[in-house]
Amino acid sequence: MRVLENYINGAWTKSSGTTLLDVKNPATGAVQAKVPLSTAGDVDAAVRAAEEAFPAWSATPPVVRARYLFKLKQVFDEHKEEVAAICTSEHGKTLAESRNDFGRGIENVEHAAGTPTLMMGQSLSDVASGIASETIRQPMGVFAAITPFNFPPMVPLWFLPYAIATGNTFVLKPSEQVPLSQERIFQLIDKIGLPPGVVNLVNGGKDVVNAFCAHPGIKGVSFVGSSAVAKHVYRSCADTGKRVQSLGGAKNFITILPDAEMDRAVANAADSAYGCAGQRCLAASVVVAVGPAYERVREGILAAAKAVVLGDGAKDGVTMGPVISAAHRDKVLSYIDKGVAEGAKLLLDGRGAKVDGYPGGFWVGPTVFDDVAPSMAIGHDEIFGPVASVCRVKTLEDALRVMEAHPNANATSIFTSSGKTAREFSHRATASMVGVNIGVAAPMAYFPFGGARDSFFGDLKVHGRDAFEFYTDRKVTISRWF
Ligand code: NAD
Repeated sequence: MRVLENYINGAWTKSSGTTLLDVKNPATGAVQAKVPLSTAGDVDAAVRAAEEAFPAWSATPPVVRARYLFKLKQVFDEHKEEVAAICTSEHGKTLAESRNDFGRGIENVEHAAGTPTLMMGQSLSDVASGIASETIRQPMGVFAAITPFNFPPMVPLWFLPYAIATGNTFVLKPSEQVPLSQERIFQLIDKIGLPPGVVNLVNGGKDVVNAFCAHPGIKGVSFVGSSAVAKHVYRSCADTGKRVQSLGGAKNFITILPDAEMDRAVANAADSAYGCAGQRCLAASVVVAVGPAYERVREGILAAAKAVVLGDGAKDGVTMGPVISAAHRDKVLSYIDKGVAEGAKLLLDGRGAKVDGYPGGFWVGPTVFDDVAPSMAIGHDEIFGPVASVCRVKTLEDALRVMEAHPNANATSIFTSSGKTAREFSHRATASMVGVNIGVAAPMAYFPFGGARDSFFGDLKVHGRDAFEFYTDRKVTISRWF
């Protein structure tokens, strides 16, 4: 079986890690490759290569660095279908979802290519008589990113393009569950002729993460994953004085008011709950129906869930793929058991789902619960599977209270035809990404992405202008000439 390698100093390099994990196709259960759990020594080799590349790369004018991003955009576009197919094979999502996943990643390459403008500082010619002052943005050194399994091409591209556009050098650790699309993406990066060491990839798990946090050569770390690990990375990086942006888990509440365009609202909420088999940090998890909206919300979600076509994401007509692993399937199924035990009404049961011809797949069928209370495990915990919980409240105030009581605050949505209500909801929502008549409130590359409370630890969010802040230090000069 093929063993994946690391990409260090412009060359594919064998990992020194001796533990190998299976990379499976979640639709079939078949092993596609082995991924090594790299060691602190591998991390050190990658960081040293990145440190050596930094002086020349940081001195390369932004406009020249931007030209590498134009090449990257071109080579990515030329291989979009191929990367999407790899993404589906390692993650399970449908091909349409994989194309979108990589496409949203490429948008960050496009945005980062604006670096000559976006890196500009500020100046004032007369802060005092005859004295001028200016800020300049400078790259800082080696940055690292650690990414989750759920958007294999996109999430690493929230970081890599901005890190290198601003003149830093970069080391990535992709999720060990989905390392194949990043292997292909780094093969494509290799084609554009970046100087060796500017970008590096180290495969592995938590030892690599902890080595990043401890390494004195790394100036900043970006993390995306579950809240417990996000908090651990945030704390560890603070201990070693690094910049850090650490994005955690989510429990997203979607509020539907009686004045909403109900058919569209329900279709959007269901798409949000079942897209990517519910494995999205922006997924609708609890659908909060306000007052008389309740009946139609419940019936609409149920009808949409029944229409989901479960199967191999690589096949035409399939609308929902498997979940990522057998262990994750068992975790999602255990939540359905808990929901039943806690007294929620199970309207559609995804347990025991099977797909003809795919006995080894990690299947969970679309599931709908009704009468869910926020205190129940299914109303509170992040399930990260195709389970929609309908919760009934009397007023918009009650809906806001349900959201506010939850420690996570990633995304939320409201469906209403009242601009006034939408505005009030947007201002008062605890979550930082708010959809108005949009089920998945995903900011585009030129806006910041990230939540609040236990969904985000740090100050500067991902992409948008924040990326240029995160990856640069602002130096101020104050000058007088005699
Ligand atoms: P995860 O936390 O298990 O893994 C994320 C990364 O951390 C992986 O690279 C993994 O190797 C590493 N890791 C895992 N356990 C570790 C440990 N104990 N110590 C150090 N490193 C460790 O998350 P996942 O299952 O890959 O992804 C799903 C989670 O990511 C969900 O909670 C989801 O909400 C979250 N997520 C959040 C956002 C966001 O924008 N806030 C985006 C995508 C995913």
